[in-house]
Amino acid sequence: MNKNSFDIIIIGSGPAGLAAALAASAAGEKVIVLEQLSAPGRKLLASGGGRCNVSNILSPRDMANSFGKACRFVRHALYTYPNEKLCRFLEARGVEMELTDGFHWFPSSGKAQDVLQALCDDSQFEVITSCRAEKLVVEDGAVCGVKCGSKLYPADRVVLAGGGRSYAALGGNGGCYELARRAGHEVTATFPAMVGLQCAEEWVHDCAGIALPDAESRIALPEEKFRCRGELLFTHTGVSAFAILDISGRVSELLSQMPSVPLEINLFADRKFDDWMEIFAGWQKDFPTKTVAKLLSQEMPKKLAAYLAGDTELKAAGFSTAARRKLAENLTALKLNITSTDGWSKAMVTRGGVVLDEVDSRTLESRLVSGLFFAGEVLDVDGPCGGYNISWALASGFLTGKMVL
Ligand SMILES: Cc1cc2nc3c(=O)[nH]c(=O)nc-3n(C[C@H](O)[C@H](O)[C@H](O)COP(=O)(O)OP(=O)(O)OC[C@H]3O[C@@H](n4cnc5c(N)ncnc54)[C@H](O)[C@@H]3O)c2cc1C
Repeated sequence: MNKNSFDIIIIGSGPAGLAAALAASAAGEKVIVLEQLSAPGRKLLASGGGRCNVSNILSPRDMANSFGKACRFVRHALYTYPNEKLCRFLEARGVEMELTDGFHWFPSSGKAQDVLQALCDDSQFEVITSCRAEKLVVEDGAVCGVKCGSKLYPADRVVLAGGGRSYAALGGNGGCYELARRAGHEVTATFPAMVGLQCAEEWVHDCAGIALPDAESRIALPEEKFRCRGELLFTHTGVSAFAILDISGRVSELLSQMPSVPLEINLFADRKFDDWMEIFAGWQKDFPTKTVAKLLSQEMPKKLAAYLAGDTELKAAGFSTAARRKLAENLTALKLNITSTDGWSKAMVTRGGVVLDEVDSRTLESRLVSGLFFAGEVLDVDGPCGGYNISWALASGFLTGKMVL
Protein backbone atom coordinates (compact mmCIF):
# COMPACT_ATOMS: atom_id res chain seq x y z
CA MET A 1 0.00 0.00 0.00
CA ASN A 2 1.45 3.34 -1.04
CA LYS A 3 0.66 5.72 1.81
CA ASN A 4 0.89 8.76 -0.46
CA SER A 5 -1.18 7.62 -3.40
CA PHE A 6 -3.56 10.57 -3.08
CA ASP A 7 -3.39 13.87 -1.29
CA ILE A 8 -7.11 13.96 -0.81
CA ILE A 9 -10.11 11.67 -1.28
CA ILE A 10 -13.56 13.07 -1.86
CA ILE A 11 -16.55 10.88 -1.05
CA GLY A 12 -19.49 11.81 -3.30
CA SER A 13 -19.67 13.46 -6.71
CA GLY A 14 -22.52 15.91 -6.09
CA PRO A 15 -21.92 19.65 -6.38
CA ALA A 16 -20.19 19.70 -2.98
CA GLY A 17 -17.80 16.86 -3.79
CA LEU A 18 -16.99 18.11 -7.27
CA ALA A 19 -16.36 21.65 -6.01
CA ALA A 20 -14.05 20.21 -3.35
CA ALA A 21 -12.24 18.15 -6.00
CA LEU A 22 -11.80 21.17 -8.26
CA ALA A 23 -10.52 23.26 -5.37
CA ALA A 24 -7.96 20.70 -4.29
CA SER A 25 -6.77 19.89 -7.80
CA ALA A 26 -6.48 23.62 -8.60
CA ALA A 27 -4.08 23.78 -5.65
CA GLY A 28 -1.99 21.10 -7.36
CA GLU A 29 -3.09 18.19 -5.20
CA LYS A 30 -3.67 14.65 -6.34
CA VAL A 31 -7.40 14.02 -5.94
CA ILE A 32 -9.82 11.15 -6.42
CA VAL A 33 -13.57 11.24 -6.06
CA LEU A 34 -15.37 8.06 -5.01
CA GLU A 35 -18.96 7.80 -6.24
CA GLN A 36 -21.24 4.91 -5.39
CA LEU A 37 -23.49 5.35 -8.44
CA SER A 38 -22.52 4.49 -11.99
CA ALA A 39 -22.27 8.18 -12.98
CA PRO A 40 -21.41 11.43 -11.19
CA GLY A 41 -23.76 14.23 -10.16
CA ARG A 42 -27.07 12.41 -10.62
CA LYS A 43 -28.98 14.65 -8.21
CA LEU A 44 -27.49 17.78 -9.71
CA LEU A 45 -28.75 16.66 -13.12
CA ALA A 46 -32.29 16.30 -11.73
CA SER A 47 -32.18 19.62 -9.91
CA GLY A 48 -34.50 22.46 -10.84
CA GLY A 49 -36.49 20.12 -13.07
CA GLY A 50 -33.31 19.35 -15.04
CA ARG A 51 -32.47 23.06 -15.34
CA CYS A 52 -30.49 23.43 -12.07
CA ASN A 53 -31.27 26.53 -10.06
CA VAL A 54 -27.69 27.23 -9.03
CA SER A 55 -28.24 30.30 -6.87
CA ASN A 56 -30.19 33.51 -6.41
CA ILE A 57 -29.51 37.23 -6.04
CA LEU A 58 -29.47 37.44 -2.23
CA SER A 59 -26.49 38.99 -0.51
CA PRO A 60 -24.36 36.49 1.47
CA ARG A 61 -25.85 37.89 4.66
CA ASP A 62 -29.47 37.43 3.53
CA MET A 63 -28.73 34.04 2.05
CA ALA A 64 -27.05 32.87 5.27
CA ASN A 65 -30.01 34.14 7.30
CA SER A 66 -32.30 31.90 5.23
CA PHE A 67 -30.61 28.79 6.66
CA GLY A 68 -32.41 29.05 10.02
CA LYS A 69 -30.45 27.66 12.94
CA ALA A 70 -27.45 26.94 10.67
CA CYS A 71 -27.16 30.61 9.64
CA ARG A 72 -24.02 31.35 11.65
CA PHE A 73 -22.34 28.16 10.51
CA VAL A 74 -22.88 28.74 6.77
CA ARG A 75 -21.86 32.39 6.89
CA HIS A 76 -18.12 31.99 6.25
CA ALA A 77 -18.58 29.75 3.21
CA LEU A 78 -21.31 31.94 1.71
CA TYR A 79 -19.37 35.16 2.30
CA THR A 80 -16.25 33.63 0.75
CA TYR A 81 -18.13 32.26 -2.27
CA PRO A 82 -21.13 34.56 -2.87
CA ASN A 83 -23.51 34.05 -5.79
CA GLU A 84 -21.64 36.37 -8.17
CA LYS A 85 -18.43 34.38 -7.67
CA LEU A 86 -20.23 31.09 -8.24
CA CYS A 87 -21.82 32.44 -11.44
CA ARG A 88 -18.53 33.95 -12.63
CA PHE A 89 -16.81 30.62 -12.00
CA LEU A 90 -19.39 28.80 -14.14
CA GLU A 91 -19.26 31.44 -16.86
CA ALA A 92 -15.47 31.14 -16.99
CA ARG A 93 -16.07 27.47 -17.74
CA GLY A 94 -18.42 28.20 -20.58
CA VAL A 95 -21.77 28.10 -18.76
CA GLU A 96 -23.65 31.29 -19.52
CA MET A 97 -25.86 32.17 -16.57
CA GLU A 98 -29.25 33.85 -16.63
CA LEU A 99 -31.47 35.49 -14.04
CA THR A 100 -34.69 33.92 -15.25
CA ASP A 101 -37.14 35.89 -13.11
CA GLY A 102 -34.99 38.59 -11.60
CA PHE A 103 -34.17 36.35 -8.61
CA HIS A 104 -33.06 32.81 -9.55
CA TRP A 105 -29.80 32.02 -11.36
CA PHE A 106 -30.02 29.18 -13.92
CA PRO A 107 -27.71 28.21 -16.79
CA SER A 108 -29.19 30.04 -19.79
CA SER A 109 -29.09 26.79 -21.79
CA GLY A 110 -31.66 25.48 -19.29
CA LYS A 111 -29.46 22.37 -18.89
CA ALA A 112 -28.18 21.08 -15.55
CA GLN A 113 -25.84 18.94 -17.66
CA ASP A 114 -23.82 22.07 -18.52
CA VAL A 115 -23.29 22.82 -14.83
CA LEU A 116 -22.22 19.24 -14.17
CA GLN A 117 -19.80 19.33 -17.07
CA ALA A 118 -18.23 22.54 -15.77
CA LEU A 119 -17.67 20.89 -12.38
CA CYS A 120 -16.54 17.53 -13.73
CA ASP A 121 -13.24 18.64 -15.18
CA ASP A 122 -11.91 15.14 -15.54
CA SER A 123 -8.56 16.32 -16.82
CA GLN A 124 -7.74 17.45 -13.30
CA PHE A 125 -9.08 14.67 -11.10
CA GLU A 126 -10.40 11.17 -11.39
CA VAL A 127 -13.94 10.11 -10.47
CA ILE A 128 -14.17 6.42 -9.64
CA THR A 129 -17.79 5.43 -10.15
CA SER A 130 -19.66 2.41 -8.73
CA CYS A 131 -17.37 2.70 -5.73
CA ARG A 132 -19.12 2.94 -2.38
CA ALA A 133 -17.05 4.23 0.55
CA GLU A 134 -17.78 1.90 3.44
CA LYS A 135 -15.43 3.05 6.16
CA LEU A 136 -13.23 5.95 7.09
CA VAL A 137 -9.94 4.66 8.44
CA VAL A 138 -8.93 6.72 11.44
CA GLU A 139 -5.75 6.22 13.44
CA ASP A 140 -4.64 8.27 16.44
CA GLY A 141 -7.34 10.86 15.85
CA ALA A 142 -6.38 11.44 12.22
CA VAL A 143 -7.96 10.12 9.04
CA CYS A 144 -5.67 7.97 6.93
CA GLY A 145 -7.84 6.46 4.24
CA VAL A 146 -11.15 5.17 2.96
CA LYS A 147 -12.23 1.57 2.56
CA CYS A 148 -14.41 0.47 -0.35
CA GLY A 149 -15.07 -3.27 -0.04
CA SER A 150 -11.66 -4.92 0.22
CA LYS A 151 -9.84 -1.95 -1.33
CA LEU A 152 -8.15 0.70 0.79
CA TYR A 153 -7.56 4.17 -0.64
CA PRO A 154 -4.93 5.85 1.51
CA ALA A 155 -4.91 9.62 2.06
CA ASP A 156 -4.43 11.88 5.03
CA ARG A 157 -7.29 14.17 3.98
CA VAL A 158 -10.84 13.09 3.20
CA VAL A 159 -13.87 15.21 2.33
CA LEU A 160 -17.18 13.60 3.22
CA ALA A 161 -19.61 15.02 0.65
CA GLY A 162 -22.10 12.17 0.35
CA GLY A 163 -25.26 14.27 0.62
CA GLY A 164 -28.40 13.41 2.56
CA ARG A 165 -31.00 10.70 2.77
CA SER A 166 -33.49 11.68 0.07
CA TYR A 167 -34.06 10.40 -3.49
CA ALA A 168 -32.21 7.07 -3.05
CA ALA A 169 -32.17 6.55 -6.82
CA LEU A 170 -30.07 9.72 -7.12
CA GLY A 171 -27.65 8.63 -4.40
CA GLY A 172 -29.42 9.78 -1.25
CA ASN A 173 -29.32 6.76 0.99
CA GLY A 174 -27.88 8.46 4.07
CA GLY A 175 -24.90 6.09 4.10
CA CYS A 176 -22.43 8.87 4.85
CA TYR A 177 -24.11 9.57 8.18
CA GLU A 178 -22.98 6.12 9.28
CA LEU A 179 -19.42 6.82 8.11
CA ALA A 180 -19.41 10.05 10.12
CA ARG A 181 -20.91 8.32 13.15
CA ARG A 182 -18.34 5.55 13.13
CA ALA A 183 -15.60 8.18 12.96
CA GLY A 184 -16.99 9.59 16.22
CA HIS A 185 -19.32 12.32 14.93
CA GLU A 186 -22.82 12.86 16.19
CA VAL A 187 -25.60 12.93 13.61
CA THR A 188 -28.99 14.49 14.40
CA ALA A 189 -32.30 12.83 13.65
CA THR A 190 -33.11 13.37 9.96
CA PHE A 191 -36.41 14.37 8.35
CA PRO A 192 -37.63 14.67 4.77
CA ALA A 193 -37.76 18.34 3.75
CA MET A 194 -38.88 20.23 0.66
CA VAL A 195 -41.55 17.62 0.17
CA GLY A 196 -45.31 17.40 -0.39
CA LEU A 197 -47.56 17.03 2.66
CA GLN A 198 -50.36 14.51 3.10
CA CYS A 199 -53.56 15.50 4.86
CA ALA A 200 -56.51 13.77 6.47
CA GLU A 201 -59.17 15.82 4.61
CA GLU A 202 -60.39 13.63 1.75
CA TRP A 203 -62.04 16.43 -0.20
CA VAL A 204 -58.54 17.85 -0.77
CA HIS A 205 -57.53 14.60 -2.51
CA ASP A 206 -60.51 14.99 -4.87
CA CYS A 207 -59.09 18.35 -5.97
CA ALA A 208 -55.81 16.77 -7.16
CA GLY A 209 -54.26 18.78 -9.99
CA ILE A 210 -55.81 22.12 -9.01
CA ALA A 211 -53.22 24.88 -8.56
CA LEU A 212 -53.59 28.37 -7.10
CA PRO A 213 -50.86 30.86 -8.06
CA ASP A 214 -50.20 32.68 -4.80
CA ALA A 215 -51.10 31.10 -1.48
CA GLU A 216 -49.46 31.32 1.95
CA SER A 217 -49.21 28.55 4.53
CA ARG A 218 -48.33 28.49 8.20
CA ILE A 219 -48.19 25.88 10.92
CA ALA A 220 -51.13 26.69 13.18
CA LEU A 221 -49.26 26.33 16.47
CA PRO A 222 -48.56 29.34 18.71
CA GLU A 223 -44.77 29.14 18.66
CA GLU A 224 -44.50 28.65 14.86
CA LYS A 225 -44.02 32.00 13.11
CA PHE A 226 -42.69 31.06 9.66
CA ARG A 227 -44.92 31.64 6.61
CA CYS A 228 -44.38 30.07 3.22
CA ARG A 229 -45.72 31.73 0.09
CA GLY A 230 -46.10 30.82 -3.60
CA GLU A 231 -47.99 28.42 -5.83
CA LEU A 232 -50.19 25.84 -4.08
CA LEU A 233 -50.91 22.49 -5.69
CA PHE A 234 -53.59 20.05 -4.51
CA THR A 235 -52.40 16.43 -4.89
CA HIS A 236 -53.94 12.96 -4.55
CA THR A 237 -52.71 12.86 -0.97
CA GLY A 238 -52.60 16.50 0.14
CA VAL A 239 -50.81 19.68 -0.83
CA SER A 240 -47.50 20.61 -2.44
CA ALA A 241 -45.55 23.27 -4.42
CA PHE A 242 -43.89 26.48 -3.28
CA ALA A 243 -46.53 27.44 -0.72
CA ILE A 244 -45.70 24.19 1.09
CA LEU A 245 -42.12 23.11 0.35
CA ASP A 246 -40.26 25.50 2.63
CA ILE A 247 -42.48 24.71 5.60
CA SER A 248 -42.44 20.95 5.03
CA GLY A 249 -39.15 20.26 6.84
CA ARG A 250 -40.49 21.77 10.03
CA VAL A 251 -43.78 19.88 9.62
CA SER A 252 -41.75 16.65 9.20
CA GLU A 253 -39.93 17.36 12.44
CA LEU A 254 -43.18 18.07 14.29
CA LEU A 255 -44.75 14.88 12.94
CA SER A 256 -42.14 12.93 14.89
CA GLN A 257 -43.60 14.47 18.05
CA MET A 258 -47.34 14.53 17.31
CA PRO A 259 -49.73 12.43 15.17
CA SER A 260 -50.86 15.35 13.02
CA VAL A 261 -49.80 18.94 12.46
CA PRO A 262 -52.38 21.69 11.92
CA LEU A 263 -51.72 23.79 8.83
CA GLU A 264 -53.51 26.98 7.83
CA ILE A 265 -53.48 28.19 4.25
CA ASN A 266 -54.48 31.59 2.95
CA LEU A 267 -55.52 30.60 -0.58
CA PHE A 268 -54.97 34.15 -1.90
CA ALA A 269 -51.97 35.51 -0.01
CA ASP A 270 -52.82 39.17 -0.68
CA ARG A 271 -56.41 38.94 0.55
CA LYS A 272 -57.40 39.24 4.19
CA PHE A 273 -60.62 38.18 5.92
CA ASP A 274 -62.12 41.71 5.57
CA ASP A 275 -61.30 41.85 1.85
CA TRP A 276 -63.43 38.74 1.29
CA MET A 277 -66.26 40.11 3.47
CA GLU A 278 -66.28 43.20 1.22
CA ILE A 279 -66.30 41.06 -1.92
CA PHE A 280 -69.22 39.00 -0.54
CA ALA A 281 -71.16 42.19 0.25
CA GLY A 282 -70.63 43.24 -3.40
CA TRP A 283 -71.96 39.84 -4.60
CA GLN A 284 -75.11 40.26 -2.50
CA LYS A 285 -75.72 43.70 -3.91
CA ASP A 286 -74.80 43.12 -7.56
CA PHE A 287 -75.56 39.42 -8.19
CA PRO A 288 -78.28 38.36 -5.68
CA THR A 289 -79.64 35.57 -7.91
CA LYS A 290 -76.30 33.92 -8.65
CA THR A 291 -75.06 31.08 -6.44
CA VAL A 292 -72.11 31.64 -4.13
CA ALA A 293 -70.39 28.61 -5.66
CA LYS A 294 -70.72 30.10 -9.16
CA LEU A 295 -69.44 33.50 -8.02
CA LEU A 296 -66.51 31.89 -6.21
CA SER A 297 -65.66 29.87 -9.33
CA GLN A 298 -64.71 33.17 -11.00
CA GLU A 299 -61.78 33.23 -8.56
CA MET A 300 -60.69 29.56 -8.67
CA PRO A 301 -61.42 26.25 -10.42
CA LYS A 302 -65.10 25.23 -10.19
CA LYS A 303 -64.49 22.02 -8.25
CA LEU A 304 -62.56 23.76 -5.49
CA ALA A 305 -65.13 26.59 -5.38
CA ALA A 306 -67.91 24.01 -4.90
CA TYR A 307 -66.09 22.30 -2.00
CA LEU A 308 -65.39 25.58 -0.27
CA ALA A 309 -68.87 27.02 -0.81
CA GLY A 310 -70.44 23.87 0.69
CA ASP A 311 -74.12 24.46 -0.25
CA THR A 312 -73.96 24.71 -4.05
CA GLU A 313 -77.57 25.98 -4.26
CA LEU A 314 -77.04 28.91 -1.90
CA LYS A 315 -77.77 32.24 -3.67
CA ALA A 316 -75.84 35.42 -2.89
CA ALA A 317 -79.08 37.06 -1.70
CA GLY A 318 -79.40 34.49 1.12
CA PHE A 319 -75.71 34.48 2.10
CA SER A 320 -76.00 34.94 5.88
CA THR A 321 -73.38 36.78 7.93
CA ALA A 322 -72.40 33.54 9.65
CA ALA A 323 -71.99 31.74 6.29
CA ARG A 324 -70.01 34.67 4.90
CA ARG A 325 -67.70 34.66 7.89
CA LYS A 326 -67.21 30.89 7.62
CA LEU A 327 -66.29 31.08 3.93
CA ALA A 328 -63.94 34.05 4.48
CA GLU A 329 -62.30 32.03 7.26
CA ASN A 330 -61.87 29.02 4.96
CA LEU A 331 -60.39 31.15 2.20
CA THR A 332 -57.90 32.94 4.43
CA ALA A 333 -57.11 30.21 6.97
CA LEU A 334 -58.07 26.88 5.41
CA LYS A 335 -57.39 24.28 8.09
CA LEU A 336 -55.75 21.01 7.11
CA ASN A 337 -54.49 18.24 9.38
CA ILE A 338 -51.17 17.04 8.04
CA THR A 339 -50.65 13.39 8.90
CA SER A 340 -47.47 12.62 6.96
CA THR A 341 -45.17 13.76 4.17
CA ASP A 342 -44.63 12.27 0.73
CA GLY A 343 -41.50 10.69 2.26
CA TRP A 344 -37.84 10.22 1.44
CA SER A 345 -38.42 9.16 -2.15
CA LYS A 346 -39.86 12.60 -2.96
CA ALA A 347 -38.04 14.87 -0.50
CA MET A 348 -35.68 17.26 -2.27
CA VAL A 349 -33.50 17.80 0.79
CA THR A 350 -32.76 16.31 4.19
CA ARG A 351 -33.31 18.22 7.40
CA GLY A 352 -30.65 17.18 9.92
CA GLY A 353 -27.21 15.65 9.48
CA VAL A 354 -23.72 15.82 10.99
CA VAL A 355 -23.85 18.03 14.08
CA LEU A 356 -22.35 21.46 13.34
CA ASP A 357 -20.68 22.06 16.71
CA GLU A 358 -18.18 19.33 15.87
CA VAL A 359 -17.05 21.00 12.63
CA ASP A 360 -15.03 24.22 12.23
CA SER A 361 -17.16 26.53 10.07
CA ARG A 362 -14.10 28.43 8.76
CA THR A 363 -12.41 25.33 7.30
CA LEU A 364 -15.14 22.68 7.49
CA GLU A 365 -12.61 20.37 9.14
CA SER A 366 -13.77 18.02 11.85
CA ARG A 367 -12.94 19.12 15.38
CA LEU A 368 -12.67 15.45 16.34
CA VAL A 369 -10.71 13.80 13.53
CA SER A 370 -7.86 15.67 11.93
CA GLY A 371 -7.85 15.65 8.13
CA LEU A 372 -11.58 14.89 7.89
CA PHE A 373 -13.68 17.59 6.17
CA PHE A 374 -17.40 17.89 5.44
CA ALA A 375 -19.19 19.66 2.59
CA GLY A 376 -22.77 20.02 1.38
CA GLU A 377 -25.96 18.41 2.55
CA VAL A 378 -24.33 15.74 4.72
CA LEU A 379 -24.04 18.45 7.38
CA ASP A 380 -27.03 19.58 9.45
CA VAL A 381 -27.75 22.38 6.95
CA ASP A 382 -30.83 22.76 4.78
CA GLY A 383 -31.95 25.87 2.99
CA PRO A 384 -35.23 26.82 1.36
CA CYS A 385 -36.23 26.28 -2.25
CA GLY A 386 -34.54 28.59 -4.76
CA GLY A 387 -30.85 27.83 -5.31
CA TYR A 388 -29.85 27.97 -1.64
CA ASN A 389 -28.86 24.31 -1.32
CA ILE A 390 -26.72 24.13 -4.44
CA SER A 391 -25.08 27.44 -3.46
CA TRP A 392 -24.27 25.94 -0.08
CA ALA A 393 -22.99 22.69 -1.65
CA LEU A 394 -20.69 24.58 -4.04
CA ALA A 395 -19.50 27.14 -1.49
CA SER A 396 -18.78 24.53 1.17
CA GLY A 397 -17.01 22.29 -1.37
CA PHE A 398 -14.79 25.15 -2.52
CA LEU A 399 -14.07 26.10 1.09
CA THR A 400 -12.69 22.65 1.96
CA GLY A 401 -9.99 23.19 -0.68
CA LYS A 402 -9.58 26.96 -0.17
CA MET A 403 -10.44 27.57 -3.82
CA VAL A 404 -9.35 30.95 -5.12
CA LEU A 405 -12.25 32.37 -7.16
C1 LIG B 1 -35.37 16.61 -7.57
C2 LIG B 1 -34.47 17.60 -6.89
C3 LIG B 1 -34.39 18.90 -7.36
C4 LIG B 1 -33.58 19.84 -6.71
N1 LIG B 1 -33.47 21.10 -7.24
C5 LIG B 1 -32.65 22.00 -6.65
C6 LIG B 1 -32.40 23.27 -7.25
O1 LIG B 1 -32.87 23.57 -8.36
N2 LIG B 1 -31.60 24.16 -6.56
C7 LIG B 1 -31.03 23.85 -5.36
O2 LIG B 1 -30.32 24.69 -4.80
N3 LIG B 1 -31.19 22.62 -4.80
C8 LIG B 1 -31.96 21.69 -5.43
N4 LIG B 1 -32.08 20.43 -4.89
C9 LIG B 1 -31.26 20.08 -3.72
C10 LIG B 1 -29.80 19.86 -4.18
O3 LIG B 1 -29.78 19.08 -5.35
C11 LIG B 1 -28.98 19.19 -3.09
O4 LIG B 1 -29.06 19.94 -1.91
C12 LIG B 1 -27.50 19.08 -3.53
O5 LIG B 1 -27.39 18.24 -4.65
C13 LIG B 1 -26.64 18.56 -2.39
O6 LIG B 1 -25.34 18.44 -2.89
P1 LIG B 1 -24.30 17.43 -2.21
O7 LIG B 1 -23.13 17.45 -3.12
O8 LIG B 1 -24.14 17.76 -0.80
O9 LIG B 1 -25.01 16.00 -2.28
P2 LIG B 1 -25.56 15.15 -3.51
O10 LIG B 1 -25.85 16.00 -4.67
O11 LIG B 1 -26.65 14.32 -2.94
O12 LIG B 1 -24.34 14.23 -3.90
C14 LIG B 1 -23.85 13.25 -3.00
C15 LIG B 1 -23.20 12.14 -3.82
O13 LIG B 1 -22.52 11.27 -2.93
C16 LIG B 1 -22.73 9.94 -3.35
N5 LIG B 1 -22.52 9.07 -2.18
C17 LIG B 1 -23.25 9.01 -1.05
N6 LIG B 1 -22.75 8.13 -0.20
C18 LIG B 1 -21.64 7.61 -0.80
C19 LIG B 1 -20.68 6.64 -0.41
N7 LIG B 1 -20.73 6.01 0.78
N8 LIG B 1 -19.67 6.35 -1.28
C20 LIG B 1 -19.57 6.96 -2.50
N9 LIG B 1 -20.48 7.88 -2.90
C21 LIG B 1 -21.49 8.21 -2.06
C22 LIG B 1 -24.15 9.93 -3.87
O14 LIG B 1 -24.39 8.86 -4.75
C23 LIG B 1 -24.22 11.29 -4.56
O15 LIG B 1 -23.87 11.22 -5.92
C24 LIG B 1 -32.87 19.47 -5.55
C25 LIG B 1 -32.95 18.15 -5.07
C26 LIG B 1 -33.73 17.23 -5.74
C27 LIG B 1 -33.77 15.81 -5.24
